[in-house]
Amino acid sequence: MIDQVEMMQIVEKLRDNAVVVPAMRANVGWAAVSNNVARDVPASGAMGKTNSFALGVALARPEEKVIIFDGDGSLLMNLGALVTIANKAPKNLYHFVVDNGVYATTGGQEVPGAEQTDYAGLGQSAGYAHSYSFDNLEDFATQAEQILSEAGPTLIALKTIPNIRYPEERAARQGTAAARRTPQAITELMEEFGLR
Ligand SMILES: [Mg+2]
Repeated sequence: MIDQVEMMQIVEKLRDNAVVVPAMRANVGWAAVSNNVARDVPASGAMGKTNSFALGVALARPEEKVIIFDGDGSLLMNLGALVTIANKAPKNLYHFVVDNGVYATTGGQEVPGAEQTDYAGLGQSAGYAHSYSFDNLEDFATQAEQILSEAGPTLIALKTIPNIRYPEERAARQGTAAARRTPQAITELMEEFGLR
């Protein structure tokens, strides 16, 4: 089992100037490690659609790397997106699936197929260019640089320890990067792209 923040620290070191789109609880972990918040777009208000939003960015800006931190519960809400992404085949898209087995945002209820679903297998059969599965940090750390240098679309499934949200957390997050809202993030990303 992988600690989400330790995994994200590895990705942050390799990120360069990539746009990062974290879903739901992944945003809390990513906001804690990101050094380029203006290129982060937390899509917490659109559960399940994070991957579709990231696909749109990847297609519109093919010269930019785009990294998704999807959740297992989020991806299950929009599983057809795997086929759409594979069909559009953006070489600049890296689709991480944080497979913690639960809906962490709403308190840790088990997702369907928690111990059963092979997300890397789903990516492979959908037609992703590359597909990987990791259940320990050392293996991921060894391969991460190579994975992010290959042409995508690439699915990277990671078995992680759940970071379940507790009611007292929201107040503590006020004013931090983890509390950044999606409309503000999109506005800042468009400024980054010189579109406004
Ligand atoms: Mg989950």
